[in-house]
Amino acid sequence: MTEMSYLDGNMLDGPLRELFAVDLSTAMGRCENCGMVGSMASLHVFSHAPGLIARCPSCEEVMLRLVRGPDQAWLDLRGTTFLQVPMPMEQAHPSPL
Ligand SMILES: [Zn+2]
Repeated sequence: MTEMSYLDGNMLDGPLRELFAVDLSTAMGRCENCGMVGSMASLHVFSHAPGLIARCPSCEEVMLRLVRGPDQAWLDLRGTTFLQVPMPMEQAHPSPL
């Protein structure tokens, strides 16, 4: 296999922010293939394919595919066992408007 250049997972922040209202760069994901748990920012992102392909930095299996069409997006997380997303603390007593 020839060596291909990749970007780090921080570049997924913009495209994924379009889908999710939270910052996913610090979200933790588990590779389905090797079990490595790491941040989304640690993934190796290849942008030469149609859409974005994010590979595990440990075993290089595909963990995430994101394809953006003109009016819809496809997110494939088959290679990711789980995605742990940091969320803002829930307010116990929402403040009145
Ligand atoms: Zn892996």
